[in-house]
Amino acid sequence: MNRTIGLLGGGQLGQMLCEAANPLGINVVVLDQENSPAKRVTAGSHINGSFTDPEKIRELAKRVELLTVEIEHVDTEVLEELANEGVEIQPSWKTIRTIQDKFLQKSHLEKNGVSTAVSKEVVADEAGLQEIGKELGFPFMLKSRKDAYDGRGNFPVKSPADIKEALETLKNRALYAEKWANFRMELAVMVVKTEDATSTESIGTIAYPAVETIHEDSVCKLVYLPPRGIPIKIQKQAQDLARKAVGSLWGKGVFGVELFLMHDGKLVVNEIAPRPHNSGHYTIEACPTMSQYKSQLLSILGNMPNFANSVIPSVIPAAIMLNILGGREETSHNEIMERAIAIPNASLHMYGKQSKPGRKIGHITVVASSISEAESLMSPLITLAGNMHA
Ligand code: ATP
Ligand code: MG
Ligand code: MG
Repeated sequence: MNRTIGLLGGGQLGQMLCEAANPLGINVVVLDQENSPAKRVTAGSHINGSFTDPEKIRELAKRVELLTVEIEHVDTEVLEELANEGVEIQPSWKTIRTIQDKFLQKSHLEKNGVSTAVSKEVVADEAGLQEIGKELGFPFMLKSRKDAYDGRGNFPVKSPADIKEALETLKNRALYAEKWANFRMELAVMVVKTEDATSTESIGTIAYPAVETIHEDSVCKLVYLPPRGIPIKIQKQAQDLARKAVGSLWGKGVFGVELFLMHDGKLVVNEIAPRPHNSGHYTIEACPTMSQYKSQLLSILGNMPNFANSVIPSVIPAAIMLNILGGREETSHNEIMERAIAIPNASLHMYGKQSKPGRKIGHITVVASSISEAESLMSPLITLAGNMHA
């Protein structure tokens, strides 16, 4: 077995995918800018260029047996053409195209019986947003349909007075509006899809545990396994809903499903990522024999093992993941790195990226026998992370 896959995008998700590929004897050829994080993992002839450049994507396709992505903001026109020419793309270009437009994604999910935050088309001018404000109430979330990540693309419109600034901030982007979700907690579930076909019965999908995610200014900051104070029954419902959502898509691979748990106990999907996900980093330590990265590789290659009850359990009882975001200065994160290295139960993952304020440059996962033990290990690091940005 000596297989070669082509990866569109070479950021930190690609880096950790390559780290998982090495021990499996899987070669990964990465298409992204020179020196991107994933290219540092494996020497070899990667391709320098943009993962949105059709020519470069074609060049990559020639050299590998199948294509996959670590980012959804790719050119799906060329992926569709390549698929028609017989190139295998996992997950399917149809899935990537549906997901990369958040409004299309939400409509797809609703059509397939998966509840999501209420979404509306908008006329992107002052009158149009006043109208939406009347319909959805304030605050509402104005969102870019495409190219959104880390909250860049979202604008919370708290009152009619914010409308001008919202339009200015998100100008030149196609927009839609979402009803404000006054959630009790945000959850996330990684799901592996092992069948090409879609299924309304979640056939061919496997769920990782549900985790709690904490976002600050729309950026994921912390992930808790298990979610704190949430009954097992709700955790299972989150896994089931995430499996149903992923089952409705085309092709194979790993997916990150972000959910809102509402105060009445109802779960709705916020969004899906057709790739490994920040909320699944914890699987490297908590599911060491089957991390989300290994699942991505095995599922797209058709080698994913079976799991009882379609669930991948965590081997470790509790874990917390903290993102390291670039601080005020380029060296602001040195102290948190040193402190993390000094904790035996902590794993530090730096991405080799230049630090910029607010940029995701690394993460720390602590593992423990209980969530309270994990919390006491992580708490000084959370304080340090806060000081980097204060
Ligand atoms: P990423 O892809 O990095 O997760 P993104 O830019 O796609 O981020 P979203 O997931 O849409 O952004 O939103 C980021 C965060 O903003 C959510 O995790 C949640 O905390 C908040 N948020 C998003 N939509 C809503 C909503 N309708 N109501 C309330 N809060 C929301
Ligand atoms: Mg997103
Ligand atoms: Mg999100």
